[in-house]
Amino acid sequence: MLITTEGIVLRQRKIANNRRIIVIFTRNYGKISVGTGMNERGKSKAALALRPFTYAEYEIFKNRGYYNLNGATVRQSYYSVGEDIDRFLTASRMIEYLDSTLEEEQVRQGEFDLTIEFFDALTRARQNYSTIFYAFLVKSLRMNGVMPEIGRCVDCGKPVEQIKAEQGRVRSFSVSAGGILCDNCVIQEKSAGETLIFSPDFDIVDVLAYFVDHPLSVFERIGLKPAVEAELRQILSEYLRFYLDVNLPEQDINL
Ligand SMILES: [Zn+2]
Repeated sequence: MLITTEGIVLRQRKIANNRRIIVIFTRNYGKISVGTGMNERGKSKAALALRPFTYAEYEIFKNRGYYNLNGATVRQSYYSVGEDIDRFLTASRMIEYLDSTLEEEQVRQGEFDLTIEFFDALTRARQNYSTIFYAFLVKSLRMNGVMPEIGRCVDCGKPVEQIKAEQGRVRSFSVSAGGILCDNCVIQEKSAGETLIFSPDFDIVDVLAYFVDHPLSVFERIGLKPAVEAELRQILSEYLRFYLDVNLPEQDINL
């Protein structure tokens, strides 16, 4: 059966007989492993579609659970991300995150569209690369059904408006409980020995809600302050480990 789908290459590896397995995140079939005799250095137009950071339309022959690449047409090449080291590292971390969270053949159209939105924003942006990445992560948590609760205290259910009215702002976030805590509940959680509780200096409700409510293109212009970003990174990294069992790829360069 011949199938056609948009997709973006996550990685590839060589196998025997000069063939490769290309792992593609496709819009219609989720993450799939596709065999091909082509390589990205080839002269054909389809070869261009095998390069990293390329959004293409793939024509694939499917037979008994095996996929083989028939042809491809480039929709958009984000190859320019490779021309800037910070942009390149952010794109690579994002691809690594996708590869470790996506399961084979699980259709994720929302996350696919968000991935294209991410690359569009990253390519246009001149700064704020990591803010765009964190905004992507939070939106993806929502799509994976593990969005932190920011509308009410996860323990007592007190609405966020009431917490803000009583204590100024939300001061605590519990990774293991999966959302914000009011000041009363945080005391109980801590005395019960709960350790994955953060008390960020910024308003985590506002930041997460802003990420959810705005398209990624907004963050081409609006970035988080470095101190906020560092704290958020720590929280997100614990959160991702707890709920999705993934490690946030290392940030070895100060973006
Ligand atoms: Zn509470």
